[in-house]
Amino acid sequence: MNTAPSLTGEQVNNTPKNNLRAEVKDLSFFYGGTIQALNNINLPIADRKITSLIGPSGCGKSTLLRCFNRMHDLYPGNMYQGEIRLYPENENLIEIDPGIVRLRVGMVFQKPNPFPKSIFENVAAGLRVRGINNKAILNDSVEHALKGAALWNEVKDRLHSSAYGLSGGQQQRLCIARALAPEPEILLLDEPTSALDPIATAKIEDLLTELHNEVTIVIVTHNMQQAARISDFTAYMHMGDLVEFGETQDLFTNPKQQRTNDYITGRFG
Ligand code: ADP
Repeated sequence: MNTAPSLTGEQVNNTPKNNLRAEVKDLSFFYGGTIQALNNINLPIADRKITSLIGPSGCGKSTLLRCFNRMHDLYPGNMYQGEIRLYPENENLIEIDPGIVRLRVGMVFQKPNPFPKSIFENVAAGLRVRGINNKAILNDSVEHALKGAALWNEVKDRLHSSAYGLSGGQQQRLCIARALAPEPEILLLDEPTSALDPIATAKIEDLLTELHNEVTIVIVTHNMQQAARISDFTAYMHMGDLVEFGETQDLFTNPKQQRTNDYITGRFG
C-alpha cells in the first residue's frame, strides 16, 4: 500500500466534470499566515451528492470545510493558496467576496444555534438578509424549507413560538431549514449530530439522505459509520493531507492507502 502525501488533482479526478458542483484544486491553508493546516488538497465535490470528510481529530476536516464558506476570512492573517472552483459558473470561490460566498454556501454547526426568534423568523432570516420581505414568498419558502428539513409536521401549528422551545434535535433540523431556505449552492455540515442523542441523530441522517439528489452536501463527521451510511463519496484526511478519496463503499471496503486502512480498521484515530 501507498504512503504518499496528499493526492494530486490528477489522482482524485475520477468524477466526470459535468457532475461536479465544485472542485478543490491544490488548496493549502495557513492559520495566521504561518501555521499550515491544509497541504495541497485536491477534491472533487459531486453535484447533489453527499461528500463526507473523515479522519482523526486535528487532521484538518473543519479547516477544509470552513474554506468553502470563507469563514476563515473572519479572522485576520489567515491565508489560502490554490482554488475552489464552482461549477457550472467556473468561478474561483477563494476570489469571490466572502460576504457573497456566505450567501451562496450554507452552513450548519455542531451545536444547534437557533436565533432568539420565532421558528418562522429563524427560517426566514436568510431570506430577509437577501432583501426578500414579501409575505407570500416568505410563507412559501419557510414552509418548503421546513418540509425539506422534515420538521414541518412538528411545528406547523406553532410557527410563531420561540425556537428555544424545540428539542435539541428539532433545533438542529431548524438550523438545517434555515440554511436550506435561500437554496444554497452547497450545504456544509460540521459534525451536525455530535451533540444529539441516537434518535435525533437517526432523524438527521434520514433527512440528509432524503435531501441527497436535491442539494450538494459536504459533511464533516468523526463517525465512520455515519459517513458509510449517508455519503456517496468519502475523503480521508490525515495531518492536513487528503490521503484518499473515492466512492464511499469502495473507500471503506477496499482502501488503497495504508493510512486509510489503519484508520478504518481502528488502528489509530
Ligand atoms: P479536525 O476538524 O480534523 O479536528 P481542524 O481543522 O480543527 O481539525 O484542525 C486542523 C489543524 O489546525 C489542527 O492542528 C489544529 O490545531 C489547527 N487549528 C485549528 N484551528 C486553528 C486556529 N484557529 N489557529 C491555529 N491553528 C488552528
